Amino acid sequence: MDNCIFCKIVAKQIPASVVYEDDDVLAFKDINPAAPVHLLVIPKLHVATLSDCTAEHTAVLAKMLTLVPKLAEEHGVAVKSDGNGGRSGGFKTLINTGPDGGQEVYHLHLHMYGGKRPWRGLGT
Ligand code: AMP
Ligand code: ZN
Repeated sequence: MDNCIFCKIVAKQIPASVVYEDDDVLAFKDINPAAPVHLLVIPKLHVATLSDCTAEHTAVLAKMLTLVPKLAEEHGVAVKSDGNGGRSGGFKTLINTGPDGGQEVYHLHLHMYGGKRPWRGLGT
């Protein structure tokens, strides 16, 4: 897609700090992190928003979601259990969709936030 910044990252026309790549999805560090760990997971094929997804996107959406816990492990923000029912760690996932959803880049992306709180402007 012409003039799509995330398509340009996929095409390696502009640099990004890539943390995962396969044939279908790409994950990279957000350029303006709102948390100590702030990653973006995108489909390589351009789709503007979650609202533009159809049944043909089911597989790539599943791939994006199941990648998140693996990235959390690799970046030290996985949920840990103390064996007594207590938990620590963890992360937040978010897909902003459309103007009222706060979407600024119109290539579908899933945010993953983690690390020591507080995080900037993300509520609880
Ligand atoms: P959203 O508001 O959900 O559309 O979020 C877009 C996100 O993309 C923001 O968190 C930006 O900081 C991030 N972003 C914009 N341009 C780049 C880039 N070139 N590399 C990495 N992240 C970017
Ligand atoms: Zn795009």
